[in-house]
Amino acid sequence: MPVLVIAEHDNASIKGATLNTVTAALACGGEVHVLVAGSDSSAAAQAASRISGVSRVLHADAPHFDKGLAENIAAQVVAIARDFSHVLFPATAAGKNVAPRVAALLDVAQISDATKVIDADTFERPIYAGNAIATVQSTDPIKVVTVRSTAFEGAAPDGGNAPIDAMPVIADSGLSSFVGSEIAKNDRPELIGAKIVVSGGRALGSSDKFNEVLAPLADKLGAALGASRAAVDAGYAPNDWQVGQTGKIVAPTLYIACGISGAIQHLAGMKDSKIIVAINKDGDAPIFGIADYGLEADLFEVVPELVAQL
Ligand code: FAD
Repeated sequence: MPVLVIAEHDNASIKGATLNTVTAALACGGEVHVLVAGSDSSAAAQAASRISGVSRVLHADAPHFDKGLAENIAAQVVAIARDFSHVLFPATAAGKNVAPRVAALLDVAQISDATKVIDADTFERPIYAGNAIATVQSTDPIKVVTVRSTAFEGAAPDGGNAPIDAMPVIADSGLSSFVGSEIAKNDRPELIGAKIVVSGGRALGSSDKFNEVLAPLADKLGAALGASRAAVDAGYAPNDWQVGQTGKIVAPTLYIACGISGAIQHLAGMKDSKIIVAINKDGDAPIFGIADYGLEADLFEVVPELVAQL
C-alpha cells in the first residue's frame, strides 16, 4: 500500500518540513503520495508534484482549507486514509495540530516525533527531552506518524513529475472558523530550516538589547534568531523564537548560543546542530559541555567585536 504525506504549505509553495517527511515516507516502503489540501492551491500542488520520490499528488482544493483548520484537514485525511499503510505529518505546529485528530478518528495510536524508520512498523523517537531514544512498534493497520524534520534529509524539491489528481472535497465541518492572525514579518530565514541560528538567553536582559546586540550578528551571518524559554518568558523575544523541548527543534549547520546556560530543555531543541558555539561568562555553564567552540566572556563585549570583525 502507498504511504501518504500531508503537505505543509502556504497554498503557493511547499514548506521545507514536507521534504524531510517525504524522505521518512520513502523509508516506510511503498509509493509516496502527497495530499495538498488548500485553497487556490494549484501552485502548491505543482510544487509537490516536483518533489523527488513522490509518485502521486492528491489535491483537495476548497475555500474552507485556506487556513489549514485542523477539523477540516483531518476530515479530508480520514476520508482517504484507509487506502494507505501510513499517514505522515511533519512534526511542526501545523502537523501536530492535525495528526492526533486523524489518529483518534481512525482509532489508532499516533507515533509522535519519529527520528528514524527502522522498518514499516518500527520507529525510533526521543523521550525524556531527547535523553533516551525509544524504539516503538505498532501493529495498527494504519500508522499515523509525526516526523521530526531535523532527523531526515530533505527530499530534493525538484526532479519529480508526479501526476496531480483532484480529490472529491469533504464539506466544511463548521466546527471552527478562522478569526485572524498577527504574524510578525522579518527578512530573516525561518528558524526551522535555517542554516545558521543566533540564539539569546536571559542574559540579554531586555528586548532592546536582543535587537541591539544579537540582531546585527544574525544579519551579518544571514541567520535566524532564536531564544531560550527564559528570554521568551521575560518578553525579550517572541514566543515563536523559542528553541527547546517546548519550543522549536532545530539542527542548523551553526548554532551560536549567547548568554544561555544550557538547561537540558534547551539542549533538547538544538543539540543536533552541526557546530555549536557558546558565549557565556560562566566557565561552568553546562552549555560548554556540548559546545564545539566555547568563549568564556561577556557577550555584551564580544558579540559587537565579532560583528565588527565579520
Ligand atoms: P539562565 O539559566 O538564567 O542562564 C543565563 C546564562 O547567561 C547563565 O549561564 C549566565 O552565566 C549567562 N550570562 C549572564 N550574563 C552574561 C553576559 N553578560 N555574557 C555572557 N553570559 C552571560 N528552556 C528553553 O530554552 N527551551 C524550552 O523549550 C524549555 N522548555 C522547558 C520545559 C519545561 C517542562 C521546563 C521545566 C523548563 C523548560 N525550559 C526551557 C527552561 C529551562 O529549564 C531553563 O530555565 C532555561 O532554558 C534557561 O534559560 P537561559 O539559559 O536563558 O537562562
